Amino acid sequence: MPVDAIYFDGQVARDRPVSVNLDSQGLTFSGDGLPPRAWRMAGLFAVDPPVKGHTLRLAHDSQPGARLVVHDEDFMAELLAIAPHLKGGFNPKRAMKFSLWIGLSLAAFAGVMYFTLNYAPQKIAVLLPEEWRERAGEQMEKALAQGAKFCTTPAGDAALSAMLASLAEGDPDMPPIKVRVYDIGLMNAFTLPGGHIVLTRGLINETSGQDEVAGVLAHEIGHAAHRHPEAQLVRIMGVEILLSVATGTSGGGNTGSLASLAAVLRSSRDAERQADTYAVDMMVAAKIDPTGLKRFFEKVLKEEGKPVNTTLSRLGSVFSTHPGTAERIGLIKPAPTSIPLKPAISDSQWTDLRKICG
Ligand SMILES: [Zn+2]
Repeated sequence: MPVDAIYFDGQVARDRPVSVNLDSQGLTFSGDGLPPRAWRMAGLFAVDPPVKGHTLRLAHDSQPGARLVVHDEDFMAELLAIAPHLKGGFNPKRAMKFSLWIGLSLAAFAGVMYFTLNYAPQKIAVLLPEEWRERAGEQMEKALAQGAKFCTTPAGDAALSAMLASLAEGDPDMPPIKVRVYDIGLMNAFTLPGGHIVLTRGLINETSGQDEVAGVLAHEIGHAAHRHPEAQLVRIMGVEILLSVATGTSGGGNTGSLASLAAVLRSSRDAERQADTYAVDMMVAAKIDPTGLKRFFEKVLKEEGKPVNTTLSRLGSVFSTHPGTAERIGLIKPAPTSIPLKPAISDSQWTDLRKICG
């Protein structure tokens, strides 16, 4: 039983009344001045998901742009019984084409990502918005501290600021740094995104002089200046981070996890070497004895090999043995004798700093 429908050929803006016949093979329709046409079931699809009581708009792969508009409930029911694939406007062939297209796009995207993440994390890290770096750094610092007490006393804070100021004399382009000391017994130091540097009470108490702490601080500033933590974050969390930065959404939303923390703190040999070089250059330029860092590494060397079990020690950082501590020690040369050296902070300030955790 033929039903009335409207046909648009997709070529001219003109609708034609047609009469449509349905059988198991497909549709045939013809109208005034329109020779009979056949749309076989195979290429037939619904433009929108069919809804009972609404107009059904059909199209066919053989005639891109053409539409057949039917408003007949019985016809729709009969058609959907023969061709259930029209429900939801889904067509396997079209879906295949679509997913192929998506697949190719994803492959291209993945290719770009692969190169980006392998060869340019540092470059991307430099481009990360300040606000994002700050947020990631704050979150990670919280995760790292694990509820440990944040150490602060007026005199201790002043001593720490004085140490930073002394070091800054060695690099006029030193990035903005936020150093915090936490009441953690383990001797360690960490650099997080956004110039967040964490020193432990253990580090301050177990070093034997201000220049050792200054050396460690200079090394950590080196990581910050080179954006190593950010680059590492990009390398590990790559796609997610890039997308959130690109879309300006919840970037760094997941950076507080211990997994991403560990990843960010795992520096490569090259990164450690860069940070060491930066530290020594900075100290020499600031007229601070660079062998302070060397003495610290000698202390680390003694500690290495001892069993470590805490989460914090597993996170690495200055304790990391790559490149080998002995090798790193060998690379630190004393400042030329022509340079008059001064301590990073005065002895009384050093006493104040050692008491920062109370
Ligand atoms: Zn390091």
